[in-house]
Amino acid sequence: MSVETQKETLGFQTEVKQLLHLMIHSLYSNKEIFLRELISNASDAVDKLRFEALAKPELLEGGAELKIRVSFDKDAKTVTLEDNGIGMSRDDAVTHLGTIAKSGTADFMKHLSGDQKKDSHLIGQFGVGFYSAFIVADKVDVFSRRAGLAASEGVHWSSKGEGEFEIATVEKADRGTRIVLHLKSGEDEFADGWRLRNIIKKYSDHIALPIELPKEVAAVEGEEKPAVEWETVNRASALWTRPRTEVKDEEYQEFYKHVAHDFENPLSWSHNKVEGKLEYTSLLYVPTRAPFDLYQREAPKGLKLYVQRVFVMDQAESFLPLYLRFIKGVVDSNDLSLNVSREILQKDPIIDSMKSALTKRVLDMLEKLAKNEPEQYQGFWKNFGQVMKEGPAEDFANKEKIAGLLRFASTQGNDGEQVVGLADYLARAKEGQDKIYYLTGETYAQVKNSPHLEVFRKKGIEVLLLTDRIDEWLMSYLNDFDGKSFVDVARGDLDLGNLDSEEDKKAAEEVAKSKEGLVERLKTALGDSVAQVRVSHRLTDSPAILAIGEQDLGLQMRQILEASGQKVPDSKPIFEFNPAHPLIEKLDNEQSDERFGDLSHILFDQAALAAGDSLKDPAAYVRRLNKLLVELSV
Ligand code: ADP
Ligand code: MG
Repeated sequence: MSVETQKETLGFQTEVKQLLHLMIHSLYSNKEIFLRELISNASDAVDKLRFEALAKPELLEGGAELKIRVSFDKDAKTVTLEDNGIGMSRDDAVTHLGTIAKSGTADFMKHLSGDQKKDSHLIGQFGVGFYSAFIVADKVDVFSRRAGLAASEGVHWSSKGEGEFEIATVEKADRGTRIVLHLKSGEDEFADGWRLRNIIKKYSDHIALPIELPKEVAAVEGEEKPAVEWETVNRASALWTRPRTEVKDEEYQEFYKHVAHDFENPLSWSHNKVEGKLEYTSLLYVPTRAPFDLYQREAPKGLKLYVQRVFVMDQAESFLPLYLRFIKGVVDSNDLSLNVSREILQKDPIIDSMKSALTKRVLDMLEKLAKNEPEQYQGFWKNFGQVMKEGPAEDFANKEKIAGLLRFASTQGNDGEQVVGLADYLARAKEGQDKIYYLTGETYAQVKNSPHLEVFRKKGIEVLLLTDRIDEWLMSYLNDFDGKSFVDVARGDLDLGNLDSEEDKKAAEEVAKSKEGLVERLKTALGDSVAQVRVSHRLTDSPAILAIGEQDLGLQMRQILEASGQKVPDSKPIFEFNPAHPLIEKLDNEQSDERFGDLSHILFDQAALAAGDSLKDPAAYVRRLNKLLVELSV
């Protein structure tokens, strides 16, 4: 062993310790994936080297034949992986193998319950990576040298996977990384050529560079041990360059885990080769589960970009809109230049047309999934629905297509589950119904019982129930779907169009006429609190409701804006009362102006409460109500 200098012992970041613990205890039934992860890293390291060498050919240091070698020692119980990729400097090793750079990691780790069964599925959301080496090894040595650094600037990283690791500077003749796994007792099965070959074929066949194993050469007695011969065990060609029909599902799945750094299989994928004015190949995946950092600004997003098979950049964001940021995969272009940068990508018109084509591919893939595998699509919606709801605002051109992919809860007995698509809604709409009705609110329980729904219940008309924070904002971008406009049932003067018969309308008009006096009296009593008072024809059980003005902000938007410290224009609600309700009849017959005033304010405040709003003057409400209660009991 060469001389080690500047030896130090450092502690792992807390999150690494937690991850190590979780991993060792949740992946014991799937141990062999450690090899997939280490090979995936080696392949990434080679990709990076190949790319950097375009500008600095000297980085190749004469060794241009890029590959990964896996070897083993049965007696020493070790497995060794070696790559001649970009390598790591001492600092790189300390950061990359001692901390987790993903933002939001600490928060994520707080979700761990300590119950290993429950926590084990979280590992999938997190990804496993380098630390998976400790599933099978009780000591890991990493020897590495960053390409371009002197041989004397190699690094030796070593750890038992407990609380700390050692780091030292060593001599390393070749660039790249060598990882030595000292297998735990009981894990020596991995120090075996046959076993390693099978694992590589199973998980890493798609890796585009050769993965070599030593050839089994029978020792001849009395002769010197022959020099090791190596043979390539994987297919070693870029998967996306192969024709679709020749790639097996399992291969697509393993390739996904490599590009997406995910642990689970993808839900769906779409592989396409485009020829003509633009030439590119894309392989796009929909993950099964949302990553834990889906809502983190700095979270990785975008595709892996290759130009003529050469890796150019990770997370090329310019190829898909932000609301599709969960899509993973690669795009390989023949038109871009190898020295393309993020800045150039943002301006290049080629990128614009690729972006709209790729966006359409993704939406088509989702449509297909929704149509052919509705249950799987439901799973997708649970994970990514919130993000899809950002779509209509961001992607005007595809608004209708995105709208078709949205799923909502509704009054049609789905317990608040978002399962109703707009096409289903329209397909079972009432004869003559030419609107899509919806109601927004804070919680499902609140909207489900909203007085605004009374007339719809009576007539058996389905109403979409929207309770996600983003919903009201989303609906401000959706005007219609399939030629039918959206109507907020809590807004404006509800017009049921053809759903009300001529007789109904006539009767309503007559009632309204007969209550003109009451309307005037209420206007005077409620004064400044209301924009308007009118007779309602949407109530069957409740005495009164508050409707929002056609142009006014809804409650949800108002609350969001207020919470963010913005000044919100004061808008007054419309007070609608139910002429058939006994309380209203009582009110109409009330002689005392004082009591009339108290009762109308109570009705107003109750309507606000039922809408999920807070009262402007709760004490006054309580005072008035108590006054009435006292009068009642004497
Ligand atoms: P990920 O691959 O998702 O980034 P990993 O835990 O697998 O996470 O690896 C952590 C980091 O360690 C990598 O991002 C890379 O910077 C570094 N690394 C791991 N293996 C190698 C290697 N063989 N060559 C160079 N760098 C490596
Ligand atoms: Mg990795």
